Amino acid sequence: MNIASDIAAARAGILDRIAAAARAAGRDPQAVALVAVSKQQPDERIEAMLAAGQRLFGENRVQEAQARWSERRAAVPGLKLRLIGPLQSNKAADAARLFDAIDSLGRPKLAAAIADAAQKQGRCPELLIQVNTGEEPQKAGVAPAEADAFIRAVRKEYGLPVAGLMCIPPADEEPAMHFALLAKIAARNGLVELSMGMSHDFETAIRFGATQVRVGSALFGARG
Ligand SMILES: *Cc1c(COP(=O)(O)O)cnc(C)c1O
Repeated sequence: MNIASDIAAARAGILDRIAAAARAAGRDPQAVALVAVSKQQPDERIEAMLAAGQRLFGENRVQEAQARWSERRAAVPGLKLRLIGPLQSNKAADAARLFDAIDSLGRPKLAAAIADAAQKQGRCPELLIQVNTGEEPQKAGVAPAEADAFIRAVRKEYGLPVAGLMCIPPADEEPAMHFALLAKIAARNGLVELSMGMSHDFETAIRFGATQVRVGSALFGARG
């Protein structure tokens, strides 16, 4: 067993499946980005993934991401980091400093904190609004019925650009209807980016228009 070749092969396999799913849906394979979800993965797998050429990574915790990426960032040209997990307003400034994108914007208080951080730092990460399509109490994100109003408020009241939407469907439901709902909300709000689909359902997400799939375990192996 060799970690470098295993990881390179896993990545090539996922990229092939992404391309096949895109073509089957009549879409351009280049229009679907692979976000490698590196949370809780050991350093040797991170290094192997970088060596395999991967540059776009997703993390779900600010502090863990700082520990993993702060120093590596300088050494890896073209590295892009996306925050895909919930964010507290008091960590918004740290998140805005480290991440190229924040994909979990779902509350006015967080929008205010990001707007404040962006002004102070002179740059704003790309922003996706998380929609809690299954209306699960334990999950972050705006309810589907409130999504249009929230998107409008983020743009108008907080003056922030919105690039797209993100969702995490309930674990025990067919994801397709959640992906379809997210795509519909994006379309009527003129939003392009759709972050949806994980290891077990990214091909379905691509069929429904995902522009970014977030793949962790199928790419790196089970988290430690
Ligand atoms: C962990 C995580 C993923 C990746 O999950 P896998 O099933 O390992 O692919 C995707 N999205 C979010 C928001 C996550 O927290």
